[in-house]
Amino acid sequence: EQVASQVAAGEVVERPASVVKELVENSIDAGAKKIEVAIRRGGISSIRVVDDGFGMDRDDALLCLERHATSKIRTGDDLASIHTLGFRGEALPSIASVSRFRLATREPAALAGTEVIVNGGKIESVKDCGDAPGTQIEVRSLFYNLPARRKFLRTENTESSHVEHQLHLQAIGHPEIGFVFVNDERVVYQLPPTTHLRERIRDLCGAALAAELLEVPEFAADNIRIRGFVGKAGVSRSSRAQQLIFLNGRAVENSTLNFALREGYHTALMKGQHPVTFLFIDMDPAAVDVNVHPAKREVRFRNSAEIREAIVEAIRRTLETDRA
Ligand code: ADP
Ligand code: MG
Repeated sequence: EQVASQVAAGEVVERPASVVKELVENSIDAGAKKIEVAIRRGGISSIRVVDDGFGMDRDDALLCLERHATSKIRTGDDLASIHTLGFRGEALPSIASVSRFRLATREPAALAGTEVIVNGGKIESVKDCGDAPGTQIEVRSLFYNLPARRKFLRTENTESSHVEHQLHLQAIGHPEIGFVFVNDERVVYQLPPTTHLRERIRDLCGAALAAELLEVPEFAADNIRIRGFVGKAGVSRSSRAQQLIFLNGRAVENSTLNFALREGYHTALMKGQHPVTFLFIDMDPAAVDVNVHPAKREVRFRNSAEIREAIVEAIRRTLETDRA
């Protein structure tokens, strides 16, 4: 069982940034209004995620550390959909199997919370604790028991920038949640919750960038809705942190989307520019393959032409409003 968890961990947990991704997604799922992430030494030494979500009772706190290996296979499903259900219920046990792990969680109405300590997948202690409502997870010494994997980690700076990028995606994707990021005891940012995406972009990327953005006019074609912001004509950037695409609420990577962005700009005679984009695409989930690896961000479309045309058109219209 411990070995099986470590094998699964290799799939889910590649580096500190993947731990942060899984923990923050869980906090979002738990209805958190505020999420605090603190890392030390690129997250290799420690990662702490604290949320004010609905927490867990003692039974669930123990259950969430067990693998639900069989619950994900439904009879008659094709391989692809088994893949989609992939790591459901495997993130926490996987992470706990390759680290020194502490979970403290408390339901808002409960008199006490529960603290569970796990080392390398082995539960060391379970007891009451007096923490605030919500959930706190601390992951120390990632891969301490898997030296071969630990060797694949890069420098602290590189790991820390992967963590930062991961958080950047979550923060843009969820402006309604407050985010705090602390790196080696230094507060990198404290983002207040907001209902306006532009404000979140300003708080995270700076006022200059936010001021250059054009809002995409409400765009809806057949099965696709597009909203968000793109950069104005004549402003060229290339940082990957400024070209983000969210599909049904999740940050994704897909070459069709990237080509479509470039084509949209090209059509608008802005050849060679790298558009700043914060695009939110909503479409029927059935039209998307969540692909090969659920822990990664790649997606594939059933109908690439349709999505391509929608993006090109949305960008063309946005830039047109600017010139008008
Ligand atoms: P999954 O998210 O796929 O269900 P995880 O291993 O990431 O699997 O989490 C297992 C379960 O633990 C979740 O389904 C949820 O019930 C619970 N859980 C994890 N993190 C939190 C959290 N921050 N707040 C409340 N419940 C949580
Ligand atoms: Mg999860």
